[in-house]
Parts: sequence; C-alpha cells; structure tokens
Amino acid sequence: MTMTASRRSHIAVVGAGFTGMVCALRLLRAGYRVSILEQRADIGGLSTSHDFGSFEWDRFYHCILTSDRALLDLLDELGLHDELRWTKTEVGLYSHGGFHKMTGAADLLRYRHLSLLSKMRLAIMSLYVTKIKKGLRLERVPLCEWTRRLFGRKVFEQIWEPLLRCKLGELRRYASAAFLWGTMVRLASTRQQGLGAQEQLGYVRGGYRMVFQRLQQSVAMWDGSTHLGVKIRRICAHEGDARAGAVRIDTGQGAQFFDGAVLTVPNSVVGRLLQTSDADYMKRLGEVMYLGMICVVVVLRRRLSPFYVTNVTDTIGFTGVIEMTNLIDPAVETNGRHLVYVPRYTTSSDPLFEKDDQGVWDQFWPELSAMYPDLKEAEIERWFVFRERNVQPVPTIGYSGIVPPVRTPVPNVYLANTAQIINNTLNNNAMTSIANQACCELMKDIPVERSLAASGLSPCVPSLVLAPMEVSHG
Ligand SMILES: Cc1cc2nc3c(=O)[nH]c(=O)nc-3n(C[C@H](O)[C@H](O)[C@H](O)COP(=O)(O)OP(=O)(O)OC[C@H]3O[C@@H](n4cnc5c(N)ncnc54)[C@H](O)[C@@H]3O)c2cc1C
Repeated sequence: MTMTASRRSHIAVVGAGFTGMVCALRLLRAGYRVSILEQRADIGGLSTSHDFGSFEWDRFYHCILTSDRALLDLLDELGLHDELRWTKTEVGLYSHGGFHKMTGAADLLRYRHLSLLSKMRLAIMSLYVTKIKKGLRLERVPLCEWTRRLFGRKVFEQIWEPLLRCKLGELRRYASAAFLWGTMVRLASTRQQGLGAQEQLGYVRGGYRMVFQRLQQSVAMWDGSTHLGVKIRRICAHEGDARAGAVRIDTGQGAQFFDGAVLTVPNSVVGRLLQTSDADYMKRLGEVMYLGMICVVVVLRRRLSPFYVTNVTDTIGFTGVIEMTNLIDPAVETNGRHLVYVPRYTTSSDPLFEKDDQGVWDQFWPELSAMYPDLKEAEIERWFVFRERNVQPVPTIGYSGIVPPVRTPVPNVYLANTAQIINNTLNNNAMTSIANQACCELMKDIPVERSLAASGLSPCVPSLVLAPMEVSHG
C-alpha cells in the first residue's frame, strides 16, 4: 500500500476582532491549521471589553436582536444559549429640551411637538419602509431627499434630519435611502408585533468578554494559535519556493509563509497591506467612507433614565445616550453601578480626535449636564473616553457596487470586513454571516490537506516565529 504524505493547509487570520475569531473557528473546524495575527495586546477589536474599575463590560455598547439568527446560532454553538438574557427596553427621544418616551405607538401619539397628521404620516410611512421588499433599489436614491419626500418636511426636519446627522454626521449627504430601509427592517424585526410594539433586546451574561472567552477556548481546543502584538505590514503572493506556502506576510518580526489568509481589517488597512497592481481594486477599497467614533462612558452611582437608548434631536455634540444598565442587570453585571455610553459618530478629521480625554470630557459634560440637570458630578464614579477612526462604513449611493469582494487580487487572500455589510448599521449578526461566507469561499479554493508528493512541499509544517500566545481573556 502506498501512503501519500500530506500536511494541513496553514491559514493566517489577520485581526482578532469578532470576525477574525469566527473565521478562525470556522477554518479550524473544517480541519485547517490556523494562526490568528493581531496587532493589539488583546483580542476583541471593536467588541472588546474594558475594566471599568469595579466591573468589566464591553468598551462599546452591544445588544442582540431576537432576529439575529446567524449570531444566535453561533452563541448556541459556543454553548452560550443559557447565558442569553432578554429584556424589554424603553426608547426615549430628547427634543425641544425635554424627554419623550417613544417605545410604542401610544407614545408617539402623546408627542406634542408634531401635529396629529405628521404623527400619522410618521407611523404609516415607518411601517411602509419596513414592508419594502426590494430595498436595494433604494441604493440609487439619496437618503435625505427620500426621507424628506416620504415623511414630509416637518417630520424630516424635526425627527429624521437630526437623527441622520447623529448617525452619519456630515457624511449623511452621501448616503443612500437603502441605509434607512435596511436599518428600519432590522430594528422592526426585533419588535414583538406591528409598529411600536415594545423591543426585546438581548445580551450574553458577562457581555462580549464571555463570547470571546468561549471563542478563544474553542480556538485553543482545535489547536489554533493566537499571536498578539503582531502588526502586519505587507501581504503578497509568494512565488518562490513552493514548499513554504503561497502567501507571504511581513510582520515586524520577519516574513511568514501561509497557504492562505483571511483579512478582517478595515479597507484602509487592506489597501496598505496588499501588494497588488490592481488599480481598480485599490480605487474600490478607497471609495468606502468610514465614520469614526468618540465615545464617553460614564459609570454612575444611580440610574440616569428609564431608557436604554435616548435619541437626541436637539443640536448636541453627541449622537444619543445609551444606558446599558437598562438592558443588563446592574446587580449581576456591573456591581450595582450604572453604565452610560455617550457616543459621537464623526469623521476621522474631526478635531475632537486630537483632544486628550479631559478635552473631550470638557466638551461633553456641559451638554450632558444640561440634558440631565439633576445629575451631579458627585454621582459620577468614573468616566472614560474611547476613540476609533474606522467604525461605520457609510452606505453611499450604489454601495453594493463598490463593496469589496471576498476574493482579493492576491491569490489565496480573502476579505471578511465590516465594509461588506450592505446598507445597515454595524452588527455582529451580519459579521457572523460575512465570516461564514468568506470561509466557504476559501474552502472552495484551498484544500484542507496538501499532498506533499504532488506539490513538492516539505513534510515539515512551516514554523511560526511570532510572539507567543498571550490572551487576556483567559
Ligand atoms: C459604538 C458601537 C456600537 C455597536 N453596537 C453593536 C450592537 O449593538 N450589536 C452588534 O451586533 N454590533 C454592534 N457593534 C458592531 C460590532 O462591534 C462590530 O460588528 C464588530 O466588533 C466588528 O468586528 P471585526 O472583527 O469585523 O472588526 P474589528 O473589531 O475592527 O477587528 C479588526 C481587528 O484587526 C486588527 N488589526 C487592524 N490592523 C491590523 C494589522 N495591520 N495587523 C494586525 N491586526 C490588525 C485590529 O486591532 C482589530 O482587533 C457596535 C460597534 C460600535 C463601535
């Protein structure tokens, strides 16, 4: 009997955020050898957790929708089903200097700053948007024009224009109507029934820290390795010695060779990393505009409001207020403290990015205290400032035509990143599907086992000489 020697194909996953970890899990389960390469000192990326002093929770606010099928399946797979908690949450609106409950249709009826006719138009047209079947056609229509036409000038100026300014900043004028459609369809899917019914939102006990702990345990169980503090500088096809692998990745610690790679980093990073002469591809990567985020997080000794989300339509320097502890149980999750996120979506050229933490706080605090005059500084236990420049890809006109495809111009290098979410806000349900899809494509091209005899490959598995595995979520 002739035995054919073989070795497992070795795949690099660049980025240990949520998408990178899901890709790693998928590939390991399929039988590949996987190394995760992450520039930061910990895993988690935008979904990472933070030590807020007396407790740890997500650095940015996250919730799970009842319709997040792909994400919920993943949580089941990680054995986290029993750790899911669901809460009926309230939504607020801060406008004309006051708070208005906006959880259901009855709340809208009570809202006194719009005429009955305008309120009916808002309710009916909102329902209509969620029923549109072929929303992708709206990609050709400018967002603000469409919203004004649909809801009327008054509702647009009082409600939508400020909300769109909050969500997309100055970049809203480039966005298409498909964004509003996609976002409203997703949000409506979590309501129990009909327009205005109360939202049920979920979270995993322990937050995303628990999710990453399980992901990391699974990766380790399947013999995957995680290398932190490894910044990738360049990725190209390796056409030299076939024994090494088809993809060369340059890190600060020298060149490494792999049979394939999946990149989970934002487009601007992909553009810097990939060595390709494909000008069209590079142009396409650059066409996606990203919004950044500056987020003040306040740890309070008391509850601030009854709302999980308070949308802000008055001109204020932040997007809204997210009181996380109206979704999660403070007694269990945050050591009795109340956790409030005050985010501002903005372009990366916003001068606020250059300010230090105190400078950002000095700008946010007067507006926050004007909004909540009862809130005393003594009730604030601690505050934090987080900044990220590449957060929300803006769904511009004709977005699905510029979305970067899974296959990059460099053979055996694949892409699974947030720019591939079409016409929606950033969410891990979409990223789970995107990770699954990218791995499926890779599996079609790269065999799990490589026959050494056929390819002249070395029987030795190429070794990785990178930083040892150091994972903070133990
Ligand atoms: C304010 C906010 C609120 C959100 N709310 C929700 C919510 O309610 N529900 C929900 O489902 N989702 C929510 N999200 C979205 C969710 O956080 C993202 O979908 C998810 O974190 C994206 O993960 P990712 O792995 O694709 O990207 P990232 O988290 O950005 O991961 C990319 C990783 O690549 C690494 N990297 C970059 N360059 C290099 C390099 N050169 N070499 C090596 N590594 C590199 C980065 O350090 C990072 O760890 C929210 C996000 C934000 C910011």
